[in-house]
Amino acid sequence: MVDKNLMDNSEEKKSLNFIEQIIEEDLKSGKHKNIITRFPPEPNGYLHIGHAKSIILNFGLGEKYKGKTNLRFDDTNPTKEDVEYVDSIKEDVEWLGYKWENQALFSSDYFNQLYEWAVKLIKDGFAYIDDQSGEEISATRGTPTKPGIESPFRNRSIEENLDLFLKMKKGEFKDGEKVLRAKIDMSSPNMHMRDPVMYRIKHANHHRTGNRWCIYPMYDFTHGQSDYIEGITHSICTLEFENHRPLYDWFLDHIYEDGKTRPRQIEFARLNLNYTVMSKRKLLQLVEDKLVSGWDDPRMPTISGLRRRGYTPEALKIFAEKVGIAKRENIIDVGLLEYSIKEHLNKIAQRVMTVIDPLKVTITNYPEGKDEMLPAINNPEDETMGSREVPFSKILYIEKEDFKEVANRKFFRLKLGGEVRLRYAYFITCNEVVKDENGEIIELLCTYDPLSKGGKSPDGRKVKGTLHWVSAKHAIDIDVKQYDRLFSDESPDSHKDKDFKEFINPDSLNIVENCKAEPFLKNAKIGNKFQFERKGYFTLDKDSEKNKLVFNRTVSLRDSWKRRN
Ligand code: ATP
Ligand code: MG
Repeated sequence: MVDKNLMDNSEEKKSLNFIEQIIEEDLKSGKHKNIITRFPPEPNGYLHIGHAKSIILNFGLGEKYKGKTNLRFDDTNPTKEDVEYVDSIKEDVEWLGYKWENQALFSSDYFNQLYEWAVKLIKDGFAYIDDQSGEEISATRGTPTKPGIESPFRNRSIEENLDLFLKMKKGEFKDGEKVLRAKIDMSSPNMHMRDPVMYRIKHANHHRTGNRWCIYPMYDFTHGQSDYIEGITHSICTLEFENHRPLYDWFLDHIYEDGKTRPRQIEFARLNLNYTVMSKRKLLQLVEDKLVSGWDDPRMPTISGLRRRGYTPEALKIFAEKVGIAKRENIIDVGLLEYSIKEHLNKIAQRVMTVIDPLKVTITNYPEGKDEMLPAINNPEDETMGSREVPFSKILYIEKEDFKEVANRKFFRLKLGGEVRLRYAYFITCNEVVKDENGEIIELLCTYDPLSKGGKSPDGRKVKGTLHWVSAKHAIDIDVKQYDRLFSDESPDSHKDKDFKEFINPDSLNIVENCKAEPFLKNAKIGNKFQFERKGYFTLDKDSEKNKLVFNRTVSLRDSWKRRN
């Protein structure tokens, strides 16, 4: 079920969410003087809008309670991780406007400490080397209702375990030949407690530690201890880790030293969006299969894609605020994201006139060779943005869809014999239609009322329609990329017998070349944001060249989201 009741702007309740409540209690009771949170991505892909939510939550709490927030890479999987991802993640967090404490941290910096803790667990009789293969281990794990079977290697002596673990570290075994497992309980109702693997052998080059290690700790043996090492007070994660919590606690119980901060894990519901997939693994498939142009394809739900599309950090924060923090899984309508960016761009975007699908208009009674500069408001929402001058001349372009030869009374745009206002310019009347040999309209012959300058009625007579336009002689050509949803299915990865890629929307990208824009756009810089009047919000794309500007449509003006008030 899509939650559509998030649009109620009427009264924004500023009550605390349940995580803030916990933090305030901990500060009040003196449990903590200062809080430390962290954002802990695995550098195995680019971040997506779900991560943005987590970043805004963790860094937001750090800011709100004057604490600290770490950026820590949980980099325990050398074969999937890469510095390209590390760099992109840093860029995304910075772009969102946050600063992490000191330098970025890496779990791989704790490999020595983790190794020592593993040795300690072996010495204390809480861990053992298992010679079983991965398949054997999973086959003997049991099911939630059926206990697992203890490994025949479970009761090795401590000495033998220590010796084998050292040999594992020295590289004396092949990948998968042995693992280190925690000795907990093979009949625990919690599957994560059934002697989970702590270390595996991987003869692989790590993006930071190079070839120093050939054994790597599992995520579950790394994450909680990394929080502990960093003195994290509130370790916020998504609900799927709720079942891992007893295991993290078990590890901590065995290594905890008095007086140190014990991180408290708090789970919240991950962000799910309809018409989207949001796992790095799936996004990687889209990139690798070249179904999109890259991680920052403006159709991707990645932070880099959204940025390129024209989203602002403020819009993502508006969105995160509206979504809120929930304890139960839900699905958010992607329209809420579009609503959030419109909210922000409406306030900040420079208005310009561009014609996407041009139809030539000749003003027959306008003097040949004359140019006029007409003042136009840059942003009606923000007076401080001032005004600019738009050139007007005898030959103009309007949108094809703004003219109909014959139209009913409800069509308020231009029709044969009808009069409209050209925004900031004049009233014009269409007197004649010029067609090509196929009967297609190629030009309109119109007259203007010189007394209606600025679009003001000279005598109180009213016109219903106001059109945007561009002077042909002054226009620059631009290309426009119009995007639709990348998937045509609301929930592309929920189909049991179908791959999510089957639901890619074939019309998700529509490139329109040689649109006509007012010359103001000539000086646009990459990333600049505009409202193309009556069309939508657009951002100058990085693929632009000096003589060919390419704009991404961030969002159209039409609401795909119906306000519910
Ligand atoms: P994915 O499954 O999309 O690959 P992940 O959980 O594996 O994501 P991590 O790099 O482990 O990615 O995530 C870093 C942090 O971001 C974690 O704390 C995780 O809980 C959080 N996070 C990931 N996805 C979401 C989401 N959809 N909503 C909120 N938080 C998320
Ligand atoms: Mg993960």
